[in-house]
Amino acid sequence: MCVAWVLTAHLLPPLQALGSLCSPWAAPRVGPLPLAPAMVRISKPKTFQAYLDDCHRRYSCAHCRAHLANHDDLISKSFQGSQGRAYLFNSVVNVGCGPAEERVLLTGLHAVADIHCENCKTTLGWKYEQAFESSQKYKEGKYIIELNHMIKDNGWD
Ligand SMILES: [Zn+2]
Repeated sequence: MCVAWVLTAHLLPPLQALGSLCSPWAAPRVGPLPLAPAMVRISKPKTFQAYLDDCHRRYSCAHCRAHLANHDDLISKSFQGSQGRAYLFNSVVNVGCGPAEERVLLTGLHAVADIHCENCKTTLGWKYEQAFESSQKYKEGKYIIELNHMIKDNGWD
């Protein structure tokens, strides 16, 4: 009822008013074109940052602050990366994986894949895809992140 009145009252608005009014019928050519329905349905990009729980101590990317891992998922601090110390994590977020390849590491032959921050693309460490010695099997599916690519975030003393 109210809308009908407005439409009637503005049936022939002066040209000057056309530009200043925001009504969709008054200025159909002004502003961005409406997106096609297919474009409006935004699927969440897989590279978008995941966010870890605020109440946990966590590690973030030293370069872009993307969350990487919860302290609860830390398995071991006694690993050696290519540029210094590295931590072994049970699970990580915001991390992409390269192709797996076999490498002879300090602890023997492993199939590993480089991992990188999905947000800033910095190589962070690697993922153990497969270990060939039984004593190293516990590392399979786990992630190494080098210490110099991480910062401690949220709730650390
Ligand atoms: Zn990053």
